[in-house]
Amino acid sequence: MLTEIAPRCHQTVLEGLYALSMPTPFPVGDVFAYLARGSDASPLTLIDCGVRTDEARAALEAGLAACGVTFRDIERVVITHHHTDHIGFAAQIAAESGAEVWAHRLCVPWLEQPEPTRRAFDAYLQPIFREGGVPEDAIKGIERVSAYLGSFVQSVRVARTLDEGDQLQLLGKTWRVYHTKGHAGDLLCLYQPETRILLSSDHLLRDISSNPLIEPPEAPDQPRPQRLLDYLAELQRIAQLDIRIAYPGHGAPVTDVPQLVASRLAMHAGRAERLRALCAEQPRTLYQLVGELFPRLRQPEMFLALSEVLGHLDLLLHEGKIAAERHDGVAFWRAA
Ligand SMILES: [Zn+2]
Repeated sequence: MLTEIAPRCHQTVLEGLYALSMPTPFPVGDVFAYLARGSDASPLTLIDCGVRTDEARAALEAGLAACGVTFRDIERVVITHHHTDHIGFAAQIAAESGAEVWAHRLCVPWLEQPEPTRRAFDAYLQPIFREGGVPEDAIKGIERVSAYLGSFVQSVRVARTLDEGDQLQLLGKTWRVYHTKGHAGDLLCLYQPETRILLSSDHLLRDISSNPLIEPPEAPDQPRPQRLLDYLAELQRIAQLDIRIAYPGHGAPVTDVPQLVASRLAMHAGRAERLRALCAEQPRTLYQLVGELFPRLRQPEMFLALSEVLGHLDLLLHEGKIAAERHDGVAFWRAA
């Protein structure tokens, strides 16, 4: 039974751009969708659409209603990346309104064929975890979390793909698409140069760091993407933009982007150094390093933690600071 939910809709610094907050059942807390409802001819657009729960739908509908909009009015849904808390109502909105769904090329399989894509993703992770010394029960736990996340997702067709350098008309203005892979390989930010507004999705969050997640390569014969290295490069690229305010996928807007980027870069450098020091004490597996870094980890966070540490091992290896010894198919990392 749903209790009444106060509409959570607030106007951003740009006329016609609204931040709509929705709850999620995940530790990250609430997630934003952004509604662009201009007086011009550009289509009524929702950027991201929460996680598909009854509570989120009620919050989204209440937020839209406060802006004078229903699901049936939405003409376009732009998805910033494929994570469960950003794609939730894409299928329902498309079905109810005929809205087009736009997303990055790498997001298409997650939207159009979510279940086979998720299963292939799970299968891809297995050898990485085994090489990382992750116990079988922890691997099973990660699969259960993946299935749980998959249970929220419904298939929807992508009408158009967006990529680096593309332009999007919103609110009578031209927005430039930045493909900022890292947190996810398909992550898009939207930047409006005259108003200097960035819709930063999960690329740049003020209150929590964006965790680059392990992902398969685009084609099976390619190496595993090094998402932390991607992320650090894309953070520095975004810091070069002249941004007045960045509206993220979660939490408060960011008003000092260069300072936040500098603090994130320092945090990652510090974490890499901590891991290097642990590898200098004695050779350790990926799983052992996760235990050292996150001793109070809860099981649903295991995949995030493994991704975080593996990303930093990629970075240390790239810098020539660590090397691996393999015993019975398990990699032990030591300082080089
Ligand atoms: Zn995300």
